[in-house]
Amino acid sequence: MKLFHTIASARRWRKNLRSKVVLVPTMGALHHGHESLIENARKIAGKKGAVLVSIFVNPTQFGPKEDFQAYPRPLSKDLATCKRGGADAVFLPSACEMYAADASVTVCESKLSPTLCGRSRAGHFDGVCTIVAKLFLVFQPTHAVFGEKDWQQLAIIRRMGRDLNFPVTIESFPTVRERDGLAASSRNAYLTPQERTLAPLIHAAMAKAADLKKPQAILKSCTAAIHKIPGARIDYIEAVDACTLAPLSNRKNPGRLAVAIFLGKARLIDNIPLPSIA
Ligand code: AMP
Repeated sequence: MKLFHTIASARRWRKNLRSKVVLVPTMGALHHGHESLIENARKIAGKKGAVLVSIFVNPTQFGPKEDFQAYPRPLSKDLATCKRGGADAVFLPSACEMYAADASVTVCESKLSPTLCGRSRAGHFDGVCTIVAKLFLVFQPTHAVFGEKDWQQLAIIRRMGRDLNFPVTIESFPTVRERDGLAASSRNAYLTPQERTLAPLIHAAMAKAADLKKPQAILKSCTAAIHKIPGARIDYIEAVDACTLAPLSNRKNPGRLAVAIFLGKARLIDNIPLPSIA
């Protein structure tokens, strides 16, 4: 498995590849959800193609009061995970390799970003779009792989790909969960043992609510159940159109039930499908 720290060395490697190049953008602190994404990337690439994982804690997608400094960076464990998942190369740039000190051009998505997580994380999705666009331009991947765990991010990247005509096929894969239903996340490490026992109640509340038919009833049920979790604070609980992220008023189109819940120091996000009902 090759390691690249500079754009120039990564570009030289890319230049010689003729088959599929599948990019898996991450911020590291890799868990079994990421490993499964890398394995899926390997399947897309096939024997002849190449899988490239990027590990970069992107400063521009963190707000001033967020956990950029504290974000875990277990590099040797991450490299072992990339290898196990079947990666051919890992891109590990520094912040100054990715951004000029006076960088002044960004990618801004304006319709899907202001809702859900964007309401409490101003500028977050501009940071995400900008770094993903840069990775697309550096590597010119044929495919890029994202997790449905970050549904809003996925919808925004699909929109960016469409609106800026990136010649990259965006593939997505369902959320990988712990046995008790909690969505695997690097931020689960912030939970105390007591909070960790409560955290699966979030997904349980969502799954139970999603059995109901009307969006309003789903929201009411989910909110009531999450209010009962000791110490849980609701950032948002929303039923949205899966594609436009607009509030869901009926079940004609596929939707998602999406939540962000604070539990102690952790802000946990999750979403599940609300299939259309004919
Ligand atoms: P991150 O490093 O958290 O930015 O995530 C990198 C990629 O892994 C993103 O496409 C995430 O959506 C995806 N991902 C994170 N957690 C999970 C999970 N539990 N299941 C599937 N994909 C995930």
